[in-house]
Amino acid sequence: MTGAVSKLKLAAVLILLLASACGTGTDAPEAGDDVVRVYRGATLVDGTGADPVENSVIVVRGDRIEAVGPADAIAIPDSAAVEQLEGMWVIPGLVDAHVHFGQSGWFDGRPDALDLRGYHPYDEVVSRLAASPELFSDAYLCSGVTSVFDVGGYGWTVDLQNRRETDARFVRVAATGPLLSTIDFWLNTEDDRQFIFMADSAAVRDAVRKTADRGAAAIKIWYIVPPAQDSAAVLDLVRYAARETKASGLPLVIHATGLWEATAAIKAGADVLVHGVFDVEVDDGFLELARDAGIIYVPTLTVTEGYLNVFSQVGMEGLPYPGACVDEGTRALLDSELPAEWRPPGEVVTRYGEFVATNRAIGIENLRRVHEAGITVAMGSDAGNPGTLHGPSIHYEAQAFQEAGMSAAEVLVAATRNAALAMGWGTELGTVEEGKLADFVVLRADPLADAANLREVARVVLGGRRVWPLE
Ligand SMILES: [Zn+2]
Repeated sequence: MTGAVSKLKLAAVLILLLASACGTGTDAPEAGDDVVRVYRGATLVDGTGADPVENSVIVVRGDRIEAVGPADAIAIPDSAAVEQLEGMWVIPGLVDAHVHFGQSGWFDGRPDALDLRGYHPYDEVVSRLAASPELFSDAYLCSGVTSVFDVGGYGWTVDLQNRRETDARFVRVAATGPLLSTIDFWLNTEDDRQFIFMADSAAVRDAVRKTADRGAAAIKIWYIVPPAQDSAAVLDLVRYAARETKASGLPLVIHATGLWEATAAIKAGADVLVHGVFDVEVDDGFLELARDAGIIYVPTLTVTEGYLNVFSQVGMEGLPYPGACVDEGTRALLDSELPAEWRPPGEVVTRYGEFVATNRAIGIENLRRVHEAGITVAMGSDAGNPGTLHGPSIHYEAQAFQEAGMSAAEVLVAATRNAALAMGWGTELGTVEEGKLADFVVLRADPLADAANLREVARVVLGGRRVWPLE
């Protein structure tokens, strides 16, 4: 396939694929010990949607929040090390509910969209990603993101869930492992598959059981209905996968970007929809169904813009979010020139730009409707896709949420409490409350004034220890 596709055909392939694309200098306490640390004086926005608490006190013992509230209501233990945070804000650690550690943020990880395998052999790219996930973890922490939900990738992405056992500075990860796909998709390595074809019920049952046994946090279905396929038969297999998933005790995450598939996915039993509906505006029937089913809607409004930015070769400086948290290697890829023979012609980029603009407008309108209907909305960037970089991309997604009419306070809840719910960690994190894990971010600017202030990260605490900036 390398080099054999004409540019025109390439453009058609692209459009089809993309339509579905998815300090203070004090010492940090050691993990697991009983050190008591107090953060005093900041305005606390706790992620529950409650009013901010001025002059707050947060008492952290080991990796958990022992007490939190206004200064006059919380006793400070004698043994505590106290950090003064006057003039700052504290929010829960941000949660990105849609990422892929198995994708690089550039086209070398998505040769289905632009085939650069002649320059960047795909298996080597995946090996590199598997060998150095800490680069993306660092970018997350630097961006204020303390937990992520990897909703589709190679087997090793499931193992990232245990990475904190040996590296307390690693971002918290929940992962689904391989995607169960309604189409037999080729983007796999020699040794492992990230797409498992739902060929028949036996294949589905086997995939769900193996993925559950490996320790995945949820089962993910990639629900794509190509025009030539019998959609009723495909839907039967999706329903079967949903029943097997429920039997395994895991939540079900479904990628469905069309109204028809998203409706069918909810009826089949989806708990989380990753990607909103992008083909048409959602109607009252969909809204009622989604609300009654109690699903979590993760819109991913900006991922297609990322592809456009890379096609347009805007480089790191041209991205619509700050790039300072991104590692050198990824920055170099974004700043590198696409090989001349693979540079899409201007008219293709223009046409793709029009598609992206329409896509974004429908996605934003649908988020507005979904949010107004009272459906739980969680933030996820789809990081790892070209131009959607691990870490800071969440801040651009937050901006799009605001464009959909959500207040900065609502955007914050979507990016913390609700995203934690989406990854299945709602009882452990996502808010700054007594008993929860001590994951929070200190900001230099008021996150309730503008979601853009979520970018003003001064310090990040993960499991009670400061992980950003480094000493
Ligand atoms: Zn995705």
